[in-house]
Amino acid sequence: MRAAILFGPEDLRVEDTPEPAGEVLVEVQAATTCGTDVKMWRYGHPVLPPYPCAFGHETAGVRADTGERVLVSDSVACGRCAPCRDGRPQICRSPTWILGGFAERIAAPERALHPIPPGLPAAAAAMAEPLAAAVHAVARGGATDDVGIVGGGPMGLMLASLLVAEGRSVSVADHHRDRRAQADLLGARGVARLGRHQLVFEAVGRPEAWLAAVQSAAPGGVVVLVGGCPRGSEIPLATEPLHYDELELRGAFHHAPAEVDAALAALATGSVNWELLQGATISLEQLPAALAQRSAGAARKWVIDPSLRTDAARKR
Ligand SMILES: [Zn+2]
Ligand SMILES: [Zn+2]
Repeated sequence: MRAAILFGPEDLRVEDTPEPAGEVLVEVQAATTCGTDVKMWRYGHPVLPPYPCAFGHETAGVRADTGERVLVSDSVACGRCAPCRDGRPQICRSPTWILGGFAERIAAPERALHPIPPGLPAAAAAMAEPLAAAVHAVARGGATDDVGIVGGGPMGLMLASLLVAEGRSVSVADHHRDRRAQADLLGARGVARLGRHQLVFEAVGRPEAWLAAVQSAAPGGVVVLVGGCPRGSEIPLATEPLHYDELELRGAFHHAPAEVDAALAALATGSVNWELLQGATISLEQLPAALAQRSAGAARKWVIDPSLRTDAARKR
């Protein structure tokens, strides 16, 4: 089968590879890209196996055995470690990562598979993986009405969608005008800079943005840190507001299986406007160029359809 294989940093090739081995084989219909894929392509990533390796972790398709349409979750928790026993599988100490969505087929354990609601297109279903992380982050934040979000990329806009659907007042700060306009379209307010808010989400994944999020919290506020920063990052925190204003800083990482199902339901009922985030549908051969593009302007996710064949593929 054809698969996009990483041979090293910025060395991605579409190759004929052996069929993947695992419990259930899934015929990939759509795999969406995100910032993590760009990081994996450019620098490698702690969860990647040694090169050469497959990647792609937002994957929807059809089970080869039953014909059922499924979202392939990108991880399964061990079920045995202390966080797992404590009901927090998203911070499992030894999860199994399921990567390889940028391929014609992917193999996954049965319990990584989530049924796709009828009528939901595969490209939208694939977005349930990042949306589940947004569902998790919203749960971490609590029910406060007055919300600010640092970052209007796909994750910031997914958070905004979920919060607006709950009737909350949401501002999204981004320096891209197009992303502010997307936030407006979702029913949030796109702003260049946040004021002070009772609940602030960070959805960029850079130390400066983490600091900006903490600095945007009103007294007594809660800050939920969603974006993963480069390894080894640190931020200089002023102690006074943490102490005198009783700010609460909460990490939010990944998702639990029930949050994946909640994300699929939110996509199917239309409470999340996935069309606003859906970018062009491209072939495996077009993936390297897509990952290399600087993200400027509107926040969109590429949709890889491995059944597409481009000229590049035919010429080889
Ligand atoms: Zn992702
Ligand atoms: Zn575990």
